[in-house]
Amino acid sequence: MRTEGPLTRLALFLPIMAATAAAVWLIGGSAYGVQMNAYVSDLFSRLRERPADSTQQIALVAIDDATLARFGNLPLDRRLVAMALLQVFRGRPAVVAIDIWFPEASNPESDQALTVALQACPQTVLASALVPDDRAAQEPARWLEPLPDFGKLAGSIGHVHADPDVDGVTRQVLLAKSAGGRRHWALSLEALRLYTRHEGPILEDEQTLVVGTHIIPAAKNNQRALLVNFPVGEGAFVRHSLLEVVDGRVLPEQFTGRAVFIGTTAQGAGDSWFTPVSSQGRPMPGVEIHANLLHTMMNDSFLRPLRESSALAAVALTAACVAVLLLSLRGAWLAVALALVAAAVHGAPFLLFVKRQVVAPAFSFSLAFWGPALVGGVFQYLTVWRRYVAADATSRRLRGRMEMVSHEMRSPLTAIQGSGEVISRYPVDEARRKQLGDMISRESQRLAGMVERFLDVERLEAGELQLRRAPVPLRGVVERTLERLQPLAARKEIVMEATINGQPQALGDSELIEFALYNLVSNAIKYSPEGSKVEVLARPNTLLGLAFLEVTDQGTGIATEDQARVFERFYRAEGARQSGQSGLGLGLSIVREIARHHGGSVMLDSVPGRGSKFSLSLPAAEAGASATAGH
Ligand code: ADP
Repeated sequence: MRTEGPLTRLALFLPIMAATAAAVWLIGGSAYGVQMNAYVSDLFSRLRERPADSTQQIALVAIDDATLARFGNLPLDRRLVAMALLQVFRGRPAVVAIDIWFPEASNPESDQALTVALQACPQTVLASALVPDDRAAQEPARWLEPLPDFGKLAGSIGHVHADPDVDGVTRQVLLAKSAGGRRHWALSLEALRLYTRHEGPILEDEQTLVVGTHIIPAAKNNQRALLVNFPVGEGAFVRHSLLEVVDGRVLPEQFTGRAVFIGTTAQGAGDSWFTPVSSQGRPMPGVEIHANLLHTMMNDSFLRPLRESSALAAVALTAACVAVLLLSLRGAWLAVALALVAAAVHGAPFLLFVKRQVVAPAFSFSLAFWGPALVGGVFQYLTVWRRYVAADATSRRLRGRMEMVSHEMRSPLTAIQGSGEVISRYPVDEARRKQLGDMISRESQRLAGMVERFLDVERLEAGELQLRRAPVPLRGVVERTLERLQPLAARKEIVMEATINGQPQALGDSELIEFALYNLVSNAIKYSPEGSKVEVLARPNTLLGLAFLEVTDQGTGIATEDQARVFERFYRAEGARQSGQSGLGLGLSIVREIARHHGGSVMLDSVPGRGSKFSLSLPAAEAGASATAGH
């Protein structure tokens, strides 16, 4: 198994991280992302410590359930509105904003009463609203203005739209709305103008509106939208029931110097909207939303959305930070560093919101952390895991080899040791000494060859060895192998028969091929009863371009369930283990490895109790190439 170098990994890792960051940015900007960001900032609105401050600047006169219970359903008689207005004005408020429409005439006495009241109360803002216009298809909406008699007496007129976002939550108000060539500022903005006694028009540029000393960040290209900075909790403003006001139960001094909003709060009046702070599912009356907006503007406590470029930079920085950490740290340090980044990424938007009143796309930031952290983490994990698996396989292979080497070395070593002892301890004649000397040198050579072969197989498996590829005449391979194994066979009185069909030649490494055949034949001898026969056949298959070496025995055979597994490293069939034959279960795995490296294969055909046939197929060498071949 090969492992990628650090550069290859980096070349993969960096684009993956960049793609993840881009995906995060796209998700953050999608409708889903926008919605999630809005939810998170709503959550922040509720989590922060910003209790209702019972502000002294604003008071509400509420057409509440008690008022309706007493005076009947909406619309409320204008005489009552007039009475309330006069009553409020006795306390000399800074401004009164009335969130009630007066587009059509009602009964003359009531209208007259309101006219008189408005005459007496010049600092009043009246409401206008856009309604869909079916008559002119070109114009999607038209203004529903106060009756001219009222309108000309009012200090000003402002629109009362507090439209919710697509998810039904009102977070912002458009400070200007136009239709039919006529534009109205929002009711609360007009109220601010009167409250601050700002003479003349509201000044505007691309980014802001200016009313007196208040510079309101409501950009033109964003329809002059302004986020309402809602306080947490109910009852931010002093609230009086209109019923109590007209009954004279509220002292006029309650309204002195304040901005007073008159509007409907009764449940079921249809003018209530969900806001970021409606946690208990309680919507807020429209008039209170306007009051909140005025409060935001009066105190310059604007919520400012984080600039898109800053958000983009923050997302990119987060992703880059995660990437660098994943690349440079490991283990506990990595965990600690990632935890710190996570804390920063998740804490910063909340702190910004609370301290600086900046609305950052917190969900996008969170994604910018988790996306790269998870994707990069999985990538790192997989590559590190692969490296681990490769290292583990190598170490197991080496261990296996070590065992095998020491095992296989035992018999030549014993022979060498024994011969040496005989020579040194006992007086031996010349002929015997020569015999023993020959044995020592033969066995030493075998040992050396064995070590060499083991190392070859090892390197072969590690992909470090270039297979020698030369034509290998199989006749020689078979003859040499049988000659080497003759003593072993003789001990069990096993007859070995070699058949060579034609001139079979394999293309490959003669020593490795011989090693493979040696393993197959020695197994055949090992697992066969005394006096049986082992046949070795070498044959070419010109049609397939292959050369075959087949070893057939009349031995124990291999149970069907073991046949697929005997080629596995260290696997020994039950029968073999019980037979008392020593072995490590490595020989066949090496044969398979050698076949595989030659581009050939090894197949097994066995009938338990009758015998086995192993066929080693190797690529054939071109005919005629043998003349120059040789190892
Ligand atoms: P070892 O012979 O050291 O156990 P091998 O990898 O050479 O290991 O063989 C694996 C297993 O395959 C053996 O343990 C034996 O169960 C089975 N086997 C191999 N060759 C033969 C054979 N000719 N006849 C019967 N069983 C065999």
